[in-house]
Amino acid sequence: MKKIIASNFKTNHTRKSTKEFIDEVNNYLLESDIDNDVLIFPASSSFDTFETKENLTIGAQNAYHAKNGSYTGELGTIHLDEFGIKTILIGHSERRHILGESQKDVALKYNYYKALGYKIVYCFGEPLEVKQAGLTETLGYIWEQFDGIDLNYDNLILAYEPVWAIGTGVSATTEDIATIHKKIKKKIDKPLLYGGSVKVCTLQDILEVPNVDGVLVGTASWIVDDFKKMIYIANKMDANSKQIKCNIEGEK
Ligand code: PEP
Repeated sequence: MKKIIASNFKTNHTRKSTKEFIDEVNNYLLESDIDNDVLIFPASSSFDTFETKENLTIGAQNAYHAKNGSYTGELGTIHLDEFGIKTILIGHSERRHILGESQKDVALKYNYYKALGYKIVYCFGEPLEVKQAGLTETLGYIWEQFDGIDLNYDNLILAYEPVWAIGTGVSATTEDIATIHKKIKKKIDKPLLYGGSVKVCTLQDILEVPNVDGVLVGTASWIVDDFKKMIYIANKMDANSKQIKCNIEGEK
């Protein structure tokens, strides 16, 4: 399976810079003929009818579980349909821990978008105190984040994102990632991404970890040249190239 590379813009990039970013990534995919799946989750104010290559998908970081209605500040599916958006991020730790979404809220949203056939990138991961409590506690915490979630859903991509690694600059070690991904894959046969402070120079090591099918990247993906490098590395790795790491200047 080809590695998946996803970028979460969070609350970054304007409408103008988002369009420039997406156009540049799209042109890169066209010119290089790279066919790895690439996903970009821009801010909803930047949604547009982007014309992208088949393997470049634009998704929503969030939306409400309604077509429309009185939900001040939220988007409904009419707003996603307007731009042909059929992919959504659900369960991101910032929505769980900063915006206060409970597992019940997350499951409600999941089931709503599942019923509509959306591609769902479903995020889960443990906070630091749970990790420090040990592997059993960590796995217990993770399984609870699957409560109410149909893990047999066809259009599902999972993303393991330890909370302590998101936006902190401190990625999980490859050993940590290997341990958790192995446990998850044993029970759930779905594409499984890792997310949490992935950088251009750590990408290859992370993608080489068994059971890692790709990455979900925040901070390090916001500079378009770096994001293109990540796509390049993922593609080269699929072709079994070794020793790419960050020494990719001049290879393009
Ligand atoms: C994320 O937002 O999903 C993420 C992994 O962010 P960062 O790469 O900044 O840790």
